[in-house]
Amino acid sequence: MKLHEYQSKQLFAEHGVPIPRGRMALNAQQAKSIAEELSGRVVIKSQVLVGGRGKAGGIRLVNSPEEAEDVATQLLGMNIKGLSVRRLLIDEAAEIESEIYLGITNDRGAKCPVMIASAEGGVEIEEVARTTPDKIVRVWINPLLGLRSYQARFLASSIELPRKHWKAFTQIAKGLFLSFMETDATLAEINPLVITGDGRLLALDGKMVLDDNALFRHVELAEMRDIDEEEPAEREARKYGLSYVKLDGDIGCMVNGAGLAMASMDVIKLYGGSPANFLDIGGGAGSEKVAAALSIILKDPSVKAVLFNIFGGITRCDEVARGILSALDDLESDIPMVVRLVGTNETEGRQLLADADMVTASSLADAAKKAVALAKENKLQ
Ligand code: GDP
Ligand code: MN
Repeated sequence: MKLHEYQSKQLFAEHGVPIPRGRMALNAQQAKSIAEELSGRVVIKSQVLVGGRGKAGGIRLVNSPEEAEDVATQLLGMNIKGLSVRRLLIDEAAEIESEIYLGITNDRGAKCPVMIASAEGGVEIEEVARTTPDKIVRVWINPLLGLRSYQARFLASSIELPRKHWKAFTQIAKGLFLSFMETDATLAEINPLVITGDGRLLALDGKMVLDDNALFRHVELAEMRDIDEEEPAEREARKYGLSYVKLDGDIGCMVNGAGLAMASMDVIKLYGGSPANFLDIGGGAGSEKVAAALSIILKDPSVKAVLFNIFGGITRCDEVARGILSALDDLESDIPMVVRLVGTNETEGRQLLADADMVTASSLADAAKKAVALAKENKLQ
């Protein structure tokens, strides 16, 4: 779950990270009165869950409450990378002397959090990693010890931050670390962290991604979810208790079990194809859930073939087959489909699908090869 900038910065501030004064506004009138309260120059920032809002015209500096109202009217409803602006953050404008990057995420390979800093702030870190990887420094954090002061100083010196800012930087790095740990986040990022004209460090932008699987421990954070902002397919999937992640390939996958889903994606890749999604229908899924899953997959226009890989244990193959058939009744799709059903009630399941014009396969390798070939063929048509 992604948090908005204003929510992320609020959490940072609660952990001692300095942020500009400001508040969220839902309409132009509120934007105006917040600008009046703050007085002077303010920045109006579109709250949408994508990066690069600045470049897209979603961030504007204004000089008066009247102008704030005007610009707010222009920004609200604006489309930024497919997302509609519904909330604005009105912040006191900062005078920027320089911009740096500070972020933290999990390093799965190292099995611990890694803090990342760069003197190249304000641009996307992925871009920096691609073009000038030596401008990025990292420290790995022992989760039991927490971020140590010397590690923060190492980051500060490595990005050549002037020594007079090291103390403030260390406090911010520790605050960012705590924000990350206490919320079970998978990412917490300040980009840019700026040095202001009057020599302070200030978190100008904030981004946090929380681990959905840990949200049950954070009821107050779960309530921050902005459902207007999510990919409709992922919202739909959550409603049915499906784990769905959209990817950029063309073979839709429906699998029971996360491990089997990963293996299926690997095997598709192995045979030269590319998965359009990760989808785990979970153990014991009934036909309704299967139908929902298939309709989500088929709504994705980039899907050129579908691969079902069901290992019937608790999940019964005939239930899955019934779900597929009932979904196809409503959807009338001509996308080619390959089914591998094994396990509990597989004979009944195969029988049910026999009329549905589906390619069956006996092994995962066989199924993946067939799906890859069908997707290629379908693409050429
Ligand atoms: P993003 O484009 O979505 O990452 O949004 P940011 O919040 O990072 O803003 C983009 C850029 O707008 C920043 O890198 C700054 O250069 C600029 N900006 C944001 N807030 C202020 C501000 O208060 N004063 C000034 N001068 N520039 C700002
Ligand atoms: Mn930013």
